[in-house]
Amino acid sequence: MRWDNLHRDGPDASGTAALFGPDVVTRTVDTPEFAGITFHEVRARSIINRVPGASRMPFEWTVNPYRGCSHACVYCFARRSHGYLDLDTGIGFDTQIVVKTNADRLLRRELSSPRWPGHHIAMGTNVDCYQRAEGRYRLMPGILTALRDHANPFSILTKGTLILRDLDLLRSAGAVADVGVSVSVAFLDEELWRTVEPGTPAPERRLDVVRALTDHGIGCGVLMAPVIPFLSDGPAQLRATVRAIAAAGATSVTPLALHLRPGAREWFTAWLARHHPGLVGHYERLYADGAYAPKWYQRRITRQVHELAEEYGIGPSRPGAHRGVGAPRCAPEPEAGPTQLTLL
Ligand code: SF4
Repeated sequence: MRWDNLHRDGPDASGTAALFGPDVVTRTVDTPEFAGITFHEVRARSIINRVPGASRMPFEWTVNPYRGCSHACVYCFARRSHGYLDLDTGIGFDTQIVVKTNADRLLRRELSSPRWPGHHIAMGTNVDCYQRAEGRYRLMPGILTALRDHANPFSILTKGTLILRDLDLLRSAGAVADVGVSVSVAFLDEELWRTVEPGTPAPERRLDVVRALTDHGIGCGVLMAPVIPFLSDGPAQLRATVRAIAAAGATSVTPLALHLRPGAREWFTAWLARHHPGLVGHYERLYADGAYAPKWYQRRITRQVHELAEEYGIGPSRPGAHRGVGAPRCAPEPEAGPTQLTLL
């Protein structure tokens, strides 16, 4: 194993002949239990990824047992990476899920290598490791067990309630290593949730996760992302969301404004035209300079949320509170390009 020779999830020069890069496709599965979803089971060649350009990231090493995400958030920036597999970045990202079925065994092997430096590993930084597929494949218990057995520090960012299945493992891992958990909850609006995050558990259910983790002694921060301009950024909406996050017992709240990188931008704009046609022009102006909302907008959201958080007794996020997961939906893990690996 060569830690300087990064696992590359993008296709190689042979294009579709190596649809899943170096990983070997072992089976394609359609099952009534997951109607509309196809699982592409692969045997991965390596599982710990080094993040290119990690100096800009709050994490350097990641593990991603899945690619594609049935949580289907319209704004998801990881959509573009599906294109590197010659898969569709719109509905295909939501329904064509690549499963690294040997992720747990491979991780145990890689953690055992004398060359592994034992650094922090971030999960949920590309796609959600507790998406629906995890209910079928149960890769995370083996992954958490391996990390615990090696006392390797790690963090998880998720929108999935399935993480509660692994509470005992999280607790036992937390007894021997630094473990950070963050849940993503950007707003409470039910109609907005149903259309823009259609495959995710409801925001209230995610807050239940925060509560349950806290009750079990596992500190949990909330990534309030993405704050969606004109749709979830009103003062009353921000207040209601921060109040609910505080009531759930979150240790911190980190707001991030929506960003629209290629892949996500086209899909989000089509959704906006369908559901909120009157906002298309506003978005064109707000995102005229590229993927990110203007600095003044980002600063305003951050200030408002931090003020509210202080008012409700959780204060702004502390350094390290989201170690490894604090920025992924804003400054994502660099995505896989045609020759490079790969962010919420
Ligand atoms: S934002 Fe996260 S939960 Fe939503 S589709 Fe992307 S990876 Fe999945």
